[in-house]
Amino acid sequence: MIHSQKMKYVLVTGGVVSGLGKGVTASSIGLILKASGLRVTSIKIDPYLNTDAGTMSPFEHGEVFVLDDGGEADLDLGNYERFLDIKLTRDNNITTGKIYQSVIDKERKGDYLGQTVQVVPHITDAIQEWIEHAAAIPVDGKEGPADICVIELGGTIGDIESMPFIEALGQFSYRVGPGNFCLIHVSLVPVLAAVGEQKTKPTQHSVRGLRSLGLSPNILACRSTMELDGNVKEKLSRFCHVPIENIITLCDVSNIWRVPLLLRDQNAHEAILKVLNLTGYIREPVLGEWTSRADLCDLLSEPVRIAMVGKYTGLADSYLSVLKALLHASVECHRKLCVDWVPATDLEDATAEENPNSHRSAWKLLEGADAILVPGGFGDRGIEGKILAAKYAREKRIPYLGICLGMQIAVIEFARSILGLQNANSTEFDSNTKSPCVILMPEGSKTQMGGTMRLGSRRTYLHGTSSKSAKLYDHRSFIDERHRHRYEVNPDMVPQLEDAGLSFPGKDESGHRMEIVELPNHPYFVGVQFHPEFKSRPGKPSALFLGLVAAACGQLDALLKKGSTKARKTSSASSTTKSQLYEKATKLVSSVYCNGNGLHV
Ligand code: GLN
Repeated sequence: MIHSQKMKYVLVTGGVVSGLGKGVTASSIGLILKASGLRVTSIKIDPYLNTDAGTMSPFEHGEVFVLDDGGEADLDLGNYERFLDIKLTRDNNITTGKIYQSVIDKERKGDYLGQTVQVVPHITDAIQEWIEHAAAIPVDGKEGPADICVIELGGTIGDIESMPFIEALGQFSYRVGPGNFCLIHVSLVPVLAAVGEQKTKPTQHSVRGLRSLGLSPNILACRSTMELDGNVKEKLSRFCHVPIENIITLCDVSNIWRVPLLLRDQNAHEAILKVLNLTGYIREPVLGEWTSRADLCDLLSEPVRIAMVGKYTGLADSYLSVLKALLHASVECHRKLCVDWVPATDLEDATAEENPNSHRSAWKLLEGADAILVPGGFGDRGIEGKILAAKYAREKRIPYLGICLGMQIAVIEFARSILGLQNANSTEFDSNTKSPCVILMPEGSKTQMGGTMRLGSRRTYLHGTSSKSAKLYDHRSFIDERHRHRYEVNPDMVPQLEDAGLSFPGKDESGHRMEIVELPNHPYFVGVQFHPEFKSRPGKPSALFLGLVAAACGQLDALLKKGSTKARKTSSASSTTKSQLYEKATKLVSSVYCNGNGLHV
C-alpha cells in the first residue's frame, strides 16, 4: 500500500479485433500490481445501451455475473473478483445505459436548466464523475480507497459506441495528469502461416486510431501465437512511439493463470509503475502460490468427468463461473477437469424419436460422468431432460450438484418419484400444477414480475451438524451466498418432502425459504437455491463444488473427516503428492478440455 492521496489509473483498451482476452489481461495486470503490494480495484466499461447485463442472453453475451449488492454485471467482473480476490459493486460496471439514464434523470429534475444537454460535456463529465466515484469504493475489505484502479474499456477502438467514453477518458487522463494515468493497449500481431512473419500493421493502425482520438498508449500488450522478434518490437516502438521495454508479448499459454506470470516475466509491472511514478515504493511481485497453481494445473492428467446438463451448451461463457468453480475444485483435488456438455433436451424421450443419435450420445455422456451438475436457468426448455438427469443421479448414486434451477429440478424429481406426485412441478413451468413443489416467492410484490428477482447476497442458516453441507462449510452457523431467482421450494410441501427423506439443512432467517436440500443417504446429492460459483476463487474453491468434485474422485470421506478448510490449506484432499504428479505427467497439457468442441476455460 502506498501513502499517496491520489488514485492512480490504468486504462486497458483493445484494438484490431475483439476476443483478444482483454478482460483476462486487465485482471492479470491488476494481479501483478496487487502482488507488488498495491491495493487494486477495477471498473469495467461496457459501451452498450442496456442498463446492465441482467436482460442480456447468456447465449450471446456469456453469463450474467451476480455481485454481492445484487448488481447483474458483465462476466469480466467475475474475472476481476477471482484474480484480485475482491468484491465489486454494481457501480464498478459502467454502461452507456447507466450514464445516459443518469444524465437524462438530471435533465428531467432540472439540474441543467437553461443548458443544451450534450454528449460533450454532459455525458463525458458524467462518465468521469462515475469513474472517480466507483474507483473510490473499497472492494478488498479494507477501509478507504485503493491505490490503483484498473479500467477496462469494452469493445475495440474505432467502435461508434465507445466514442463518448474515449473522449471522456482522454479528458480524464489530462485532468488526473501525467504520473497518474497509464494506458495499456491490447493489440494483435498476427503471424502469417505461409512465411511465419509477424505483422505489425494492424497494431500500427489501431494505435494511430487511438491517437487520433486523443489517447496515446504507454504500453502495448501484443497478443500473438509466439514471442515477438526483436526487430518486430523495434518496428512497433518506432511507429507507435512506445519504448521497446514497454512492448509486452501475450503469446498463447497453457492456462489463463499463466497470463500474470507472463506479464511479470516481461517486467510489465515495472513498466506500469514507472509510468505511474511508483518505482521504488513497491516490492517485486509475490506470485509463489499463483505459480505453483499454474504449474500444477498443467501437470494434472487424471481426469474427473463432470456432466453439465444445461440449456446453453454451445457457449462455455454462458456458464463461465460454474466452470471456474469446477476448475478451482478439480485442481484442489489434483484432477484434470473434463466437462462433458449434455444438452438437456437431448436426454428427453422426444429426442429419442426425433434424433436417436443425439439422444444416445447425451445418455452416454451422462452415464460416463463421475458427477452431474445441473446449473441455474430460466424458461422451460430442457426441464424434463434435467429432471431425468437428477433422477439418474439419485438412483445410480452419482454425485449431484443442483444450482438454483438445478435444486428446484431435484425437488420436483423427488416429489414425482418418491412422493408419487406425478404432476409435481414448478409454477414457473406449469402454473396450474396440482402439486406445486416450487412456487413464486419474490421478496417484493407477488403480482408483478419486473424487479421481483431475489438478487445478491442473502444469508443461509445451517441447521444441524450431520449434513454434508454443514461439514463442507466447516460447521459455520451461517453463510452468505449470492442469489438470482424468483421461485423457491414451496414451504407448505416441506414437511411431506422431509418425511419422505429429503432434508433441508440450510434455510433463510425466517425458516420459510429453503436454501439447501440434501439426500442424506446418497454419496453426494446437494441442491442449493443460491449460486456458490460466484464466490469461488483460485486456491479457495467453493465448499460445495469441492464436495462435488471430491465425491466424484472418491475423496469426499477424507475431506469431510479433515474439515474442508483444513484440507484445503494442506491440499491433502488428494493423496497424490506434487512430486508424484510430476512423475506421472508425461507432457504438458492444457488445463481444461471439453468433449471435442474446443471450449476452454
Ligand atoms: N428460474 C428459476 C427461478 O427464477 C431459477 C433461476 C436460476 O436458476 N437462476 O427461480
